[in-house]
Amino acid sequence: MNIPLLDLKEQNDALRPEIESALGRVLDTNGFILGKEVAELEAELAAYCSTKYAIGCASGSDAIVLALMALDVGPGDEVITTPYSFFATVSAITRLGAVPAFVDIEDDTYNLDVAKIEAKITPRTKAIEPVHLFGQCIDMTALGTIATEYAIPIVEDAAQAIGAEDQGKRAGSMGAIGCFSFYPSKNLGGMGDGGFVTTNDDALAKKLMALRVHGSEERYYHKYVGLNSRLDGFQGAVLRVKLPHLDRWTQRRQANAARYRKAFTDRGLCEQIKIPIERDGVRHIYNQYVIAVPDGRDQLREFLTGRGIGTDIYYPVPLHLQECFAYLGYRAGDLPVAEKASRETLALPVFPEMTADQQDVVVDAVADFFGS
Ligand SMILES: *Cc1c(COP(=O)(O)O)cnc(C)c1O
Repeated sequence: MNIPLLDLKEQNDALRPEIESALGRVLDTNGFILGKEVAELEAELAAYCSTKYAIGCASGSDAIVLALMALDVGPGDEVITTPYSFFATVSAITRLGAVPAFVDIEDDTYNLDVAKIEAKITPRTKAIEPVHLFGQCIDMTALGTIATEYAIPIVEDAAQAIGAEDQGKRAGSMGAIGCFSFYPSKNLGGMGDGGFVTTNDDALAKKLMALRVHGSEERYYHKYVGLNSRLDGFQGAVLRVKLPHLDRWTQRRQANAARYRKAFTDRGLCEQIKIPIERDGVRHIYNQYVIAVPDGRDQLREFLTGRGIGTDIYYPVPLHLQECFAYLGYRAGDLPVAEKASRETLALPVFPEMTADQQDVVVDAVADFFGS
């Protein structure tokens, strides 16, 4: 049996007739850039995220750039963020000439360690950019208290966290701006690149809408030097077909995670592997199911590959040690928890359509590897 890390075929096949007719609507109306489908999607996303605004853009990476631009992040500014995330979290900061101030992560959730943030705040701190990694929100209550005390806006990188909640509040609704991605591997994936930003602030929304169209509020009159970063009509149409299914897919991911938890616990494997924890009061949407293997991660991965089981490592190199950020002067050992996570974590398949049989194969293989 071959079990890929993510298999979208079943999901897409089931929706194919609806998707084709939605694409046809765009063809018929020439609504290729933004347009009606995107406008309707934006309204539906705002409702889904419990925010006043949702604004489509070209990718999750651009969503973060747009958010930081809207907050006037630029040369001389610092943005507090995590070293343990996808590259775009940090390239958005450096692209604007600002400096990432890295804070280490927690070793159980892999999210920023909020207790270590205050020590990194300086007069130049312009924003705090946490990531809700793998689909679990960072402790936004604790972070919000610090942000309010120092009057620093929070930009939530919620690219992996659509529909995730902390204490009943949705990802993307708790900071100044939320950033989301429609990359096909996210819980709500498009058929190409796409993303959006969320906010409850009227002035920020107006600025974000201008920034995505070259900084113009009125055509050919440019208030800012913005980007060309728009969601296209085809993506809007496809995503509108998919959004009504998102909660069902997320529930299946959660059920798969629960089944893994029970199986790994029953099989006595929780010494050899650390299974994901859920903080109290979160809605974890399991964009990824990530275990830690303190001893033999790479060997386990090879073993699973041999059994036809897809896995991945998120992330093999923490961002403060990336070649392109060498100029920042970080060294191995500076952020030990993130570095340890890079050596130990392994993502297992958790996609919604995964069957119980497939999960049993994965659990058996892990058990076989550890000889139990
Ligand atoms: C996917 C992702 C992004 C970037 O999104 P794209 O749509 O691929 O540009 C940014 N941050 C995190 C945490 C992500 O997982």
